[in-house]
Amino acid sequence: MPLRDAHNRIIRDLRVSLTDRCNFRCFYCLPHGEPPLARKETILTYEEIAYLCDIFVSLGIEKVRLTGGEPLLRKDVPKLVARLSKLKPNLKDLALTTNGFDFPRYAAELKDAGLDRVTISLDSLDREKFLDITGVDALDRVYAAIDAAKKFGFEPIKINACVVRGRNDDEVVNFARFARENSISMRFIEFMPLDSGHEWSRERVVPGREIHDAINAIYPLRLKESSRGSETAWKYEFADGSPGEIGIIAPVTEMFCGACSRIRLTADGQIRTCLFSTAEHNLRDLVRGGASREEIVEFIGNVVMKKEPRHYINDAEFVQPSRTMSFIGG
Ligand code: SAM
Repeated sequence: MPLRDAHNRIIRDLRVSLTDRCNFRCFYCLPHGEPPLARKETILTYEEIAYLCDIFVSLGIEKVRLTGGEPLLRKDVPKLVARLSKLKPNLKDLALTTNGFDFPRYAAELKDAGLDRVTISLDSLDREKFLDITGVDALDRVYAAIDAAKKFGFEPIKINACVVRGRNDDEVVNFARFARENSISMRFIEFMPLDSGHEWSRERVVPGREIHDAINAIYPLRLKESSRGSETAWKYEFADGSPGEIGIIAPVTEMFCGACSRIRLTADGQIRTCLFSTAEHNLRDLVRGGASREEIVEFIGNVVMKKEPRHYINDAEFVQPSRTMSFIGG
């Protein structure tokens, strides 16, 4: 029986954060300087992650995405990938989200280990702006990551850009051109209130519709499918048949909670049923306390029943979660 929540949504998608550490300091996520990090002993071991993923897959999870923090800061990620690959074919999709900084070093090993897909974050095509947004002068490393992803057969490659008014919204069309020239699936994500600096404001959100219209005016777009299922992105192709794809993820202005199929496991073993949850569920202590597999299954089933019907970003009483994306696992 697949995992189903109280609103009849089937849960197929698990995001697993491998670490809350990150080598970037994107202003919309982590603060500059040193954030408080989870103590090492609170972080799930690979043994524990593999065991829990085995249980999740037995409960109908089909997609696992490894994320963070920056997942590649954790040692031996290919070894974990190889273990998780054993859950195929019930596990249909094993993916990684990375800032790309260390990806070229591991690309071949990750491919061999069975990683299916990679998403690379890239918020500016301009070196100075990239530095300004991420705090790191590493645009060339991200380009190298994209090349490595191509070389080792991770196509189609997805690139995520978080669009923030006044910071990189003037680059949307350049990104579309980049997608065309490099056969990339370019995803634009609205800025969400998950930043540690609490700099988020509605004025800084660039609505997905505006992103679409800016690109469409220069490179006409055609919607690929009239329904997006449980996918977060509306996907468009270029009307002139050019390669590449545009995805628009608009959680703020076009909520898609009704079709949400995701839950998250934080690096310290907490289940989060929504990015904007204000409660977490301590799976780590249950496992470490010696719970049986049946007890863990029951716990997960009960937690999923508590999945929020929707997020409350647009409600007057919205409270921003205390943990940022880097802790939750983006
Ligand atoms: N370090 C990896 C990376 O850079 O892709 C994985 C973790 S990162 C938190 C995952 C994604 O979350 C990135 O694409 C980032 O742009 C996005 N993200 C983080 N904070 C966000 C926010 N406040 N609003 C929208 N997207 C955000």
